[in-house]
Amino acid sequence: MPDLTSQIGTLVRVEGLYKAYRKGDTTVSVLRGLNLQVEKGEFLAIVGASGSGKSTLLHLLGALDVPDAGAIIYAGQRVDRLSVTDRDRLRNTAFGFVFQFYHLLPELTVLENVLAPVMIRYSLWQWWHRRRHWRRQALSLLERCGLAARRYHYPQELSGGEMQRAAIARALLTGPQLLLADEPTGNLDADAATQIMHLLHDLNRENTLTIIMVTHNWELAKQAHRMLRMADGRLEPVPGRTVPKVPASLGAYPS
Ligand code: ADP
Ligand code: MG
Repeated sequence: MPDLTSQIGTLVRVEGLYKAYRKGDTTVSVLRGLNLQVEKGEFLAIVGASGSGKSTLLHLLGALDVPDAGAIIYAGQRVDRLSVTDRDRLRNTAFGFVFQFYHLLPELTVLENVLAPVMIRYSLWQWWHRRRHWRRQALSLLERCGLAARRYHYPQELSGGEMQRAAIARALLTGPQLLLADEPTGNLDADAATQIMHLLHDLNRENTLTIIMVTHNWELAKQAHRMLRMADGRLEPVPGRTVPKVPASLGAYPS
């Protein structure tokens, strides 16, 4: 029996988040008192105009940047004021990132790309001792993402959809609980986008992977459990899409 208690409850809570970018005497105020609560196992889609602050929010949630004010609580722990070292550790273990342009390294094979995030963590000696374990993990994830046969190929030998599947395998290598996906289908044709969405939905269901996805595509966003729109530096419900479809096994959704 899997331990379901650890899969129930709130994974991310954000309270009164503020973020502005300053350059010279210009200030761009992006997030203005944003609140958000995401349950474990939820698949949340965020839509909003270009420049509305969606990527800024994902960067803050993923500890790539720090807010000016407000609190980010991850798995019950305040994470917006961590030291740089603790932030790095959290980012490397708790979160997976997927981006619009894949960010694969062109000189590495698919398998090496998936392994790269853990390889750089270790000394050569440490890596030598752990390589079998991580290689097994990487191959099993590539298998799951339908890319095992392409493991020795280079990114330029893959289609956009295949590159994104490699990027998803890489994002999941360390077993994160939360996947942050910034326009993951933004550079793909409709068929490839559908395949990526199927993969994300399957991973969400099978592994109770919590997903926060930013997208321009309302059709894809509507497939998520819940959809929110970024406007005026805050998240607001989308009319007709306010009822979450969180699986019953995850418990009641707080009002
Ligand atoms: P979105 O992802 O919704 O398109 P972003 O979060 O990327 O929006 O950007 C929100 C606003 O913040 C935009 O006006 C953008 O120009 C500005 N911005 C983003 N990053 C920076 C930065 N590093 N320095 C200055 N302005 C930035
Ligand atoms: Mg963006």
